[in-house]
Amino acid sequence: MKNNQYFIIGITGGIGSGKTTAAIFFEEFGIPVYNSDKRAKIIQNENIDVKNKIIELLGENSYNKNGLNKVYVSKEVFNDKSKLIELNRIVHPAVFNDFEEWKNKQTSKIIMKEAAILIESGSYKTCDVVISVIADLEKRMGRTVDRDSLSEEEVLKRINNQISDDERIAKSDYIIYNNGNLQDLKKEVEKTLLKIKKEYNF
Ligand code: ATP
Repeated sequence: MKNNQYFIIGITGGIGSGKTTAAIFFEEFGIPVYNSDKRAKIIQNENIDVKNKIIELLGENSYNKNGLNKVYVSKEVFNDKSKLIELNRIVHPAVFNDFEEWKNKQTSKIIMKEAAILIESGSYKTCDVVISVIADLEKRMGRTVDRDSLSEEEVLKRINNQISDDERIAKSDYIIYNNGNLQDLKKEVEKTLLKIKKEYNF
């Protein structure tokens, strides 16, 4: 085990693949889940040190009365790769520390870290096993258009901004295909958890 006390399952997948839904099913089967993307948002709104650094990097417009101004921040970093790298240098270590704190409070031996950019951030290297949730492009598009009220064009732009499924699969130990209904996904989650437990003697 890479982490002496805990066995960390990393779970990732492209936009609309169903990784959050799969992670919720893992939780139902008793695995505590850390949602990195949700925590990153909270940290950017609440951690004073992080907030000040973001303002220093991108200016006062980074925050408005509702908190982080995602539209402005995304635009700034989308147009300037070096700013994106700097922003990640601020946010990633804070999320890493937050995960460590969360981890040390868990009583379950097996825990899960969910992250959209598990592979890109290098965070997968600290996981004992990595799962990718994979779904057909048209399913991902349909689900995301419905959930976020985005146009197909906008969803496609976001998909093309992420790494490919082939790159995800190459770094994964287990794949969960999510092309069926929610019941099918739940069954796949249960099967995968049983496989992991069997393989690692839990
Ligand atoms: P993102 O990276 O955009 O957050 P995600 O990979 O976490 O996406 P989810 O939020 O889990 O994806 O799923 C996207 C949407 O599709 C949600 O509204 C979810 O309820 C729905 N969904 C996921 N899997 C299925 C399925 N098998 N059948 C029907 N709907 C599904």
